Amino acid sequence: MEGARIFCDSAAVMQAKESWARELSFGHTVGGAACGGGACFSVVNPATGLPFVEVAAAGRAEVDLAFEAASASFSDWRRTSWAERAALLRNFADAVSADEETLATLVTLEQGRPWAFARAEVRRNAQAIRQMADLSVLPECLRDDDSFRSMLHYRPLGVVAAIAPWNVPVTMAVGKLVHALLAGNTLVLKPSPYTPLVTLRLGELGRGIFPSGVFNVLAGGNEIGQWMSEHPAAAKVTFTGSMATGRKVAQSAASDFKRLTLELGGNDAALVLDDVDVDAVAARLFGAAFVNSGQVCMAIKRLYVQDGVYDKVVERLVTYARNASVGDGFAPQTQIGPVQNEAQWRIVQDFLASARADGADFAAGGAALDRPGYFVAPTIALGLREGSRLVDGEPFGPVLPILRFRDAEEGVARANATPYGLGASVWSDDPDRAEQVAASLEAGTIWVNDHAAPDPMVPFGGIKRSGIGRESGLLGLKNFMEPVSVITSRTPRMSWFVP
Ligand code: NAD
Repeated sequence: MEGARIFCDSAAVMQAKESWARELSFGHTVGGAACGGGACFSVVNPATGLPFVEVAAAGRAEVDLAFEAASASFSDWRRTSWAERAALLRNFADAVSADEETLATLVTLEQGRPWAFARAEVRRNAQAIRQMADLSVLPECLRDDDSFRSMLHYRPLGVVAAIAPWNVPVTMAVGKLVHALLAGNTLVLKPSPYTPLVTLRLGELGRGIFPSGVFNVLAGGNEIGQWMSEHPAAAKVTFTGSMATGRKVAQSAASDFKRLTLELGGNDAALVLDDVDVDAVAARLFGAAFVNSGQVCMAIKRLYVQDGVYDKVVERLVTYARNASVGDGFAPQTQIGPVQNEAQWRIVQDFLASARADGADFAAGGAALDRPGYFVAPTIALGLREGSRLVDGEPFGPVLPILRFRDAEEGVARANATPYGLGASVWSDDPDRAEQVAASLEAGTIWVNDHAAPDPMVPFGGIKRSGIGRESGLLGLKNFMEPVSVITSRTPRMSWFVP
């Protein structure tokens, strides 16, 4: 059953912004300068479904040039002090802040998210760079006694190859940049072909700040990702994207045992316990599931609600879903934008079709909107169980199944019955009870009375098949460094070699 929905359209503003974007230059950044490419590819505006900008695709030659530039600059860059690198990153954060309007507008045009959310993403990331720049990884003394002094030093790895998805392009680019560069590595960064513009712009901003070759950005087709992850000059690959591509990246990187971070998909469960104040949490539950039209790896993708509050939670979330303002990202009322690309829009519809076949009751939404662009009505699906594709998989769209459970033990068991392990949450008015339940959940990040709330100071990453390694915080930085032990012997001891 579909409810009333407000569609917000600002076609004239959109057209003006598209023409403005065509005036910008979108070149690759290699060796600190603009670099051309080969055949052009189109960038599609998901709110219209139509191409609006052409970008010259990087090819094999540009990939090799970028790795050459990054390799050549590594020996000088690694010798800069931590404080110098942090200062340059702070300068970059200032450049991002100064360019906020342009970056946010590009995000809305190419990715679709509402402009106010896009601007918030830019602001949050400028702030995250400054926060991360205040961290430092120091040598650790592991033992210091009469026999030995054992120190653990962290050294940069070399050239980092970074491959990003299309859902939060600023967050992805900035996160990979700050980790790689602060740790003393140089970087070759590739955005998704669906959302190249904002990352190319960030490369341009970096040209005047970082030494030549330290920060390189290339956009083009998926094949570039494969070349990057198998490139002999890459010491590490950091990849964020789907499990299927992550598997290929791991295989490519295995040939010479490159260091690897994989930030993969999620199917986050949120458990709402029956002592919760539903009025206080309903809007936040809805927001954590439908943020960026559900296209967030750590969004709530399965909502488990205990019997006692099930009806009330469903009633509140269905009301939000039916009344949400869906539309293009420049209409000021828009709360939920389009799905980012046509392929993903079709995947979301396949999920809805299989849920319908499984007997879902669509209490809100349940279909794509019959209008240009890749819009899907915010959907609440009831009556499903595990075993249904919508519950077990990752639709990555504005679709949320709500499931009922009897007691915490049952809720935890059902939440954990998945190969995914990115995030999870527990919602309760009793934080001690919630933390007890949280202790049994299987995920890399577990929130209590919150969800999809990343913190640049807190390591983030998946367990099980949601990934390998961590980004953010000190642990995230260490994932971009090699630990090296230096052991100084202080007393003569028996040698292994007896002459
Ligand atoms: P994707 O796997 O299709 O693409 C990701 C990137 O990989 C793109 O840049 C693409 O060009 C590149 N690529 C494609 N083929 C490649 C290959 N053979 N070798 C190397 N690179 C290749 O993912 P997507 O559809 O862009 O993003 C959505 C997925 O990303 C979802 O599953 C989502 O959960 C996940 N994601 C995870 C996190 C996280 O932190 N865990 C964050 C955001 C998104």
